[in-house]
Amino acid sequence: MKNILELNNVNVSFHTFAGEVKAVRGVSLHLEKGESLAIVGESGSGKSVTSKTIMRLLPEKTSEIKEGEILFEGRDLTKLSNREMEKIRGSEISMIFQDPMTSLNPTMTVGKQIMEGLRKHQNLSKNEAKERAINLLKLVGIPNPEIRIGEYPHQFSGGMRQRVVIAIALACNPKVLIADEPTTALDVTIQAQILDLMRDLQQKTGTAIILITHDLGVVANLSQRVAVMYGGTIVETGTTDEVFYNPKHPYTWGLLSSMPKLNTNDKELLAIPGTPPNLLNPPKGCPFAARCPYAMQVCVDHMPDASDVTSTHKAACWLLDERAPKVEPPEAALV
Ligand code: SF4
Ligand code: MG
Repeated sequence: MKNILELNNVNVSFHTFAGEVKAVRGVSLHLEKGESLAIVGESGSGKSVTSKTIMRLLPEKTSEIKEGEILFEGRDLTKLSNREMEKIRGSEISMIFQDPMTSLNPTMTVGKQIMEGLRKHQNLSKNEAKERAINLLKLVGIPNPEIRIGEYPHQFSGGMRQRVVIAIALACNPKVLIADEPTTALDVTIQAQILDLMRDLQQKTGTAIILITHDLGVVANLSQRVAVMYGGTIVETGTTDEVFYNPKHPYTWGLLSSMPKLNTNDKELLAIPGTPPNLLNPPKGCPFAARCPYAMQVCVDHMPDASDVTSTHKAACWLLDERAPKVEPPEAALV
């Protein structure tokens, strides 16, 4: 089996006082062994909800997986008991979040925090766990790991703390690592270092990575494939090259147009005007229709199916229908 993780038609809702918020609608995705997939979209697009659904980290009382399956090595995670899920979380699938300070315990040495997961999931003796913790700190590029293992999170800089978080996430050799905006809280040079580190680690450890980000710029260096989310749905997916160099969905065009370009400084950054759809009452047609400069009547009336552009590239847009007028991406969207 090539796919380590497969989401089929996943629908997730939140029950709120205002009504049912349909946060994720019909999401299908796959992750191959050892590959890196980026899920890109604005906040509220459903990308974090998707990742938390995989980890089963959504609040049980207020959220619900309404439909769909999440197959991890063929087992449907939506059907596992909390106990079974607990065994998978942190050992076979682990997750890192945006702000390293909130994922670390300020009152515990970093060594202890790395060793905790190892002792819990891997049955190591104290000495074995310590040795492994030192090696992990070395692996993520923390100098003097023998000393730093005894220090507390506040003694580390932001970038170094995120390295510690990555070490904890990798401690049990997970098959899948989900990184939700892992560099957003860091300054630009540190961001680049952390992304380089993640790429190195992916190559060294063979861990498959799902990178969740609002920033298309961080995708190109780390991920082989990209899924673009909008309004709780996936609007385009393809290899990174396909999505960057031959984007087909107007929302992707908008994202690419709003990305700073390296080689030019004369082009203004274009924000996409308008606001995302209200998922309490999602539009019955294309979720992007209210903001799309190319919207047609059919877009408002009917949700577009995902059309194949190539065997690896799909987009859900009526412009790909053979009856639609021919539209070229705007110049600002061309990388
Ligand atoms: Fe725009 Fe219509 Fe395509 Fe939606 S389906 S992105 S509204 S052209
Ligand atoms: Mg988020």
